[in-house]
Amino acid sequence: MIMPKLLDGKKIAAQIMESVSKTVVSLPSRPVLAIVLATTNESTLAYVNKIRKTAEKAGIEARLVNLTENTDSGAFLERIKKLAKDTATHGIIIQTPLKHDIDIDGARELIPLAKDIDGASPLSAGRLGGGLDAFAPATAQAVIEILNGYDIDPAGKHAVVVGRSRIIGKPVAGLLVERDATVTVCHSKTENLAFYTESADVLVVAAGKAHLITKQHIDAAKGTVIIDVGTNFVNDRMVGDVDFIELENVAGAITPVPGGVGPVTVAVLLRNTLDAYLKQHSDS
Ligand code: NAP
Repeated sequence: MIMPKLLDGKKIAAQIMESVSKTVVSLPSRPVLAIVLATTNESTLAYVNKIRKTAEKAGIEARLVNLTENTDSGAFLERIKKLAKDTATHGIIIQTPLKHDIDIDGARELIPLAKDIDGASPLSAGRLGGGLDAFAPATAQAVIEILNGYDIDPAGKHAVVVGRSRIIGKPVAGLLVERDATVTVCHSKTENLAFYTESADVLVVAAGKAHLITKQHIDAAKGTVIIDVGTNFVNDRMVGDVDFIELENVAGAITPVPGGVGPVTVAVLLRNTLDAYLKQHSDS
């Protein structure tokens, strides 16, 4: 297959959702995803809306567990415990930001492995790191889905990941190692970032810094595949971590922002909800 320049996340997401919808119609009941939030943050609410709309179209119920910003940590943890026990809830995600005094790590630990469809708990992270079965964080998995969707095999290639967060950078690096890439992880203390990014065959950027990656970071002769995970708002416009305009003709292939990793993340979350439902029903 000839690799197109633009790696279209919407297209990959639509393919995933088509297959999810086909399976969901044959089920005796609807898979249920609980989205726990306690914020009025606009971009969080927009993301949650996107999940709900996409879920609805596919026959998945995305239930909002909307706790107010005044909910204290104890009450928050109690709510997660209830959802963990509820047999009618198949997947649980906790949306950030949360009030600083909510014990987010404690809350994530309460999500049972089988319902942890965004790979948020330390148990999921540990199992994943050890090569055992667990859901990967959806955004990290979305990066792999885009590579798979365009038949880009990272095996034997140099993959550079910019960012080392627990939800994106580290799990993406792990997933790329599993796919036999040689992986370098860069972060804010990396000296001479361009030294590493220039030699990347696959470059995944998840730093949360608008226009961090420019022409200076890429060797035009390499045909680098750039996956831009970043979402930043500049003058009310969503942009990635990569200077798309500078790089769209320099990269071998590139994801846009918006329309790249974002829609695939939502699709992966919903596919994971379906998988969690199927597993929980086959176990019961
Ligand atoms: P995070 O927790 O803030 O982590 C950012 C990482 O980038 C850190 O490891 C940091 O290094 C590194 N970094 C920051 N500045 C850097 C620089 N100048 N050079 C090299 N590395 C640098 O953020 P996150 O939660 O991983 O999210 C990253 C981005 O992805 C954000 O823009 C977020 O909005 C976006 N995101 C997108 C989706 C999606 O579906 N598209 C989903 C979730 C998040 P240190 O560790 O040294 O601090």
